[in-house]
Amino acid sequence: MTSPLARPDTSGGPCGPAPAPWGHDGLRLHVLATGSKGNASLVETPEGIILVDCGISCRQVIARTRACGLDPLRIRAILVTHEHVDHVAGVRVTAGKLGVPVYASLATLRGARWPSEVSGTPLQARRPLEVAGVRVIPFSVPHDAPETLGFRFERAGDAIGFCTDIGHLTDEAGEYLSDARILALESNHDVAMLSDYPGYPASLKRRIGGDDGHLSNAQASEGLARLVTSRTQAVVGMHISEHTNLPGVCRDALERGRDLLAPAQGRHLQIIVAGEARPVAGIGAES
Ligand SMILES: [Zn+2]
Ligand SMILES: [Zn+2]
Repeated sequence: MTSPLARPDTSGGPCGPAPAPWGHDGLRLHVLATGSKGNASLVETPEGIILVDCGISCRQVIARTRACGLDPLRIRAILVTHEHVDHVAGVRVTAGKLGVPVYASLATLRGARWPSEVSGTPLQARRPLEVAGVRVIPFSVPHDAPETLGFRFERAGDAIGFCTDIGHLTDEAGEYLSDARILALESNHDVAMLSDYPGYPASLKRRIGGDDGHLSNAQASEGLARLVTSRTQAVVGMHISEHTNLPGVCRDALERGRDLLAPAQGRHLQIIVAGEARPVAGIGAES
């Protein structure tokens, strides 16, 4: 018997009929900001909204949430992937103003030194929890911050795989990111642009490009073959570097990855590139 989270057979055939397509009435993703200047995304359900990372100010969270057509008072919780400042800078004020709990790994809760007025609940990889009517499954991610997490969100026959700041695609990350209707995946840098960029010392370039750094366009593109199934409808390129990547370069790489997929996987796959100056609302809404 396979784990309920194992990648399902979507081909039909001797194992039985292919699983039904993901529904459209469960989950929406809104990317308010992503990149080294600040990250914040919303997972919206009919029961409420989960804020994933809060590396922008509370004022910006509220303004951008409203710009997505949503009421910030529907935010029920903040989930934090890791302690880096571009993911936590606005957590304390936002959690306090909205009166919502914060969930993060124990190392992140300690590393970010949350003031006592923030109620932080520790998360463990592979221990699902229920937030705003969503089953959230945290999973371990290789990155240069302790106990960094990615998240899989599941609700009513719908799923989002979400992972930024990942040095390389591990088996564990692949397991939880695969076969989602919406896949939000880091596509941080172009390898040649990183190598040529004069503004970073060699040590920083090694860190960014290393196994505990950030995913390149090429790695994200190659990863699509592992992660995308016939039920995947959109891939969102996340955490695009402002110095060592361009939206068009990222898009070209992800589209090349899509074009290599089997027709059943790639034919309808939408490629979206999000960025600091390119918030994207309503990903996953039926068009
Ligand atoms: Zn980051
Ligand atoms: Zn980071």
